[in-house]
Amino acid sequence: MVSLRVIAMVEQASTVVQTVVDELIEQDTPRPRRPALSPSRAGDFKQCPLLYRFRAVDRLPEKPSKAQVRGTVVHAVLEELFGLPQGERMPDAAHQLVAPTWARLVEQRPELAELFPEGADDQLASWLASAGELVDGYFTLEDPNRLQPEACELLVESELESGLLLRGYIDRLDVAPTGEIRVVDYKTGVAPKEIGEARALFQMKFYALVLWRLRGVVPRQLRLMYLSDRQSLAYAPDEAELRRFERTLEAIWEAILKAGKTGDFRPNPSRLCDWCDHKSRCPAFGGTPPDYPGWPEPDPGDETLADRAD
Ligand code: SF4
Repeated sequence: MVSLRVIAMVEQASTVVQTVVDELIEQDTPRPRRPALSPSRAGDFKQCPLLYRFRAVDRLPEKPSKAQVRGTVVHAVLEELFGLPQGERMPDAAHQLVAPTWARLVEQRPELAELFPEGADDQLASWLASAGELVDGYFTLEDPNRLQPEACELLVESELESGLLLRGYIDRLDVAPTGEIRVVDYKTGVAPKEIGEARALFQMKFYALVLWRLRGVVPRQLRLMYLSDRQSLAYAPDEAELRRFERTLEAIWEAILKAGKTGDFRPNPSRLCDWCDHKSRCPAFGGTPPDYPGWPEPDPGDETLADRAD
């Protein structure tokens, strides 16, 4: 059985990778200016309100790890793979995309080059090879030549009746000729157990709710593809469940707004603290947070690049 420690580490890595992808996409995408809730930030608040504050309000920088950036590269490679004609989406073609994708990432985010200082060519080569292995893992789960996604790395937004704006990025959206929707999310870590599964399902229900509100159709399937373990999980949401989930998100947002007014974001120590970039400034570990800067305008809910590459 995969240990909780490993799961937590993978989740944390996933969050950072997703953040990296988000940031890159935000550079090319006109940025919506209304406050919104994303699945990553909602998950942060659920895990630890103070972590939410550090990320969404203080916007303190976090240093992406090699594993996180590798997830970003793999997500980008899979997106590009679907840009090739059907019949040409082969493992070799995907492998050839890995190094150029990394090079492009460094061009856009030069600080990422620091992950592999001069003279670390062997490390870089083995890291790129490990990204290739994750791509191979993808090919064991499905044949990309047999489907044509409607979209990859899709930004979706939907406003609930309560006025809460939900915003997120979907790794891949498949729509059948019958109109049935499948949401696909690539995970570059191990298969989910306990906490990992709960967090992944929370994220997928978030996307399902947004799509349902946007298109009037409950997605037929939410599919999580774990590329490292070469396993996938499928889940079929229903309307009643999504309505309950909507109320959960509204309650989370209310709690965020309440904390935002007072600055009372409390730490919630857990085993996940071992992977928190902000432990040194966390009062639960003897640290002192910076002065509360006030509720941010206008985007307290954005995801970061690392959030989106898990
Ligand atoms: S160290 Fe733990 S309790 Fe402190 S901010 Fe990070 S996640 Fe929250």
